Amino acid sequence: MNAAESAALALVLKERGWTGADSAETADLVLINTCSVRATAETRVFGRLALYAAEKKKRQFTVVVAGCMASRLGDALKKKAPAVDYVMGTDARATFPLIVEAIETGAALDRGAFNEKPAFSFSSFHAETGVFRSFVPIMHGCNNFCAYCIVPYVRGREISRDPASILGEIRLLAEKGVREITLLGQNVNSYLWKDGARRRTIDFPALLEMVADEAEHTQGKIQWVRFLSSHPKDLSSKAIAVMAERRVYCRHLHLCVQHGSNTVLAAMNRAYTRERYLDLVAEAREAMPGISLSTDLLIGFPGEREEDFEEILTLMEQVKFLYSYMYHYNPREGTAAYSLPDRVPDTIKQKRLAKVIALQKQHTVELLTARIGADATVLIEGISRKSKDELVCRTERDEMVVVPGDPSRIGEFAGLTLSVLRGNTFRAKEARTLLR
Ligand code: SF4
Repeated sequence: MNAAESAALALVLKERGWTGADSAETADLVLINTCSVRATAETRVFGRLALYAAEKKKRQFTVVVAGCMASRLGDALKKKAPAVDYVMGTDARATFPLIVEAIETGAALDRGAFNEKPAFSFSSFHAETGVFRSFVPIMHGCNNFCAYCIVPYVRGREISRDPASILGEIRLLAEKGVREITLLGQNVNSYLWKDGARRRTIDFPALLEMVADEAEHTQGKIQWVRFLSSHPKDLSSKAIAVMAERRVYCRHLHLCVQHGSNTVLAAMNRAYTRERYLDLVAEAREAMPGISLSTDLLIGFPGEREEDFEEILTLMEQVKFLYSYMYHYNPREGTAAYSLPDRVPDTIKQKRLAKVIALQKQHTVELLTARIGADATVLIEGISRKSKDELVCRTERDEMVVVPGDPSRIGEFAGLTLSVLRGNTFRAKEARTLLR
């Protein structure tokens, strides 16, 4: 979400003729788009702001802090970090052009207009230039209040984006050269748009149908669509059915499970059980054989006993995720879990996390090894960091492949055979041109 929002903010600057500086040391404007999910991310921002405070003693420039941390701390951020000139929360992004104008003209910002806090609106374009994959935000905020999560407090309640605006952005992205899009939101499955004029309601499966139709209209430009993040509570059979039926949807699903124990899932306020999650996995696999799955796993939530932890491992064995984002619990002030007793000692959290990481590594290697020799379609994304004669590609199942090739093919869909596995990346001998 932050990457998409950063691209939208960068576009505001680009449209007004601003160009990127070589470094923060020479910039007239430093814009930090922040995330509040982890306390460590906030600590890093304060570190940067301390550096800018020192730099500001030598020269004049403007520092704007945007995003979740700006929403969470508001003007208190300026008191804590005097280098900050403007604090712009996620619901106040529409004020960014006003800030830029004030910097350009040197005039004082009309604080009245700034403080009005305009209603949240989605920017109309989120792609960075020169990329072939782009996020398309479809909703914002979250109503779920998982006990460990700060997002609903800093991003507010769910707001869905007008489908006409979503489809319009997809059209524009296709024209600009994007080939793959990811529909984005904190909980995309609860997307809901009330179309008063036509007296109809568009839910997530209906949106998936509309997006698939739009992608088809791009005449092969946009061939792959993904969506992120999915909450198991809200992922419906209907959504799985549309995904299976409309071939534009990639055979990869990121479905955050967080834990394998029903006791811990309930304490986390996740509103589904381990059994429900496993049913969803079975349903997706039956509808789309070969689909790859990935997840998020949160280790060491308060009250997690050894037997609860073991249930994470057994769930991983049952599902076999291609990859997981694994992290241990850190108390986050302002969340329901912050005051929970029975905290798991750090040493135990670290040990448990290490076990989960080791098991995930084993599963990743097993799943990837089983794919050696398979044919796959890939989107060629860029040049390998190790050799300018090699291209980096991705399969629809979210597997990485390196293949020899000419950079002129970047942005092309190609066919190849997954010949060798090095680490978690496949090697292929050649990228074949696909006939359309
Ligand atoms: S679903 Fe839970 S973890 Fe995800 S953003 Fe909402 S509150 Fe946070």
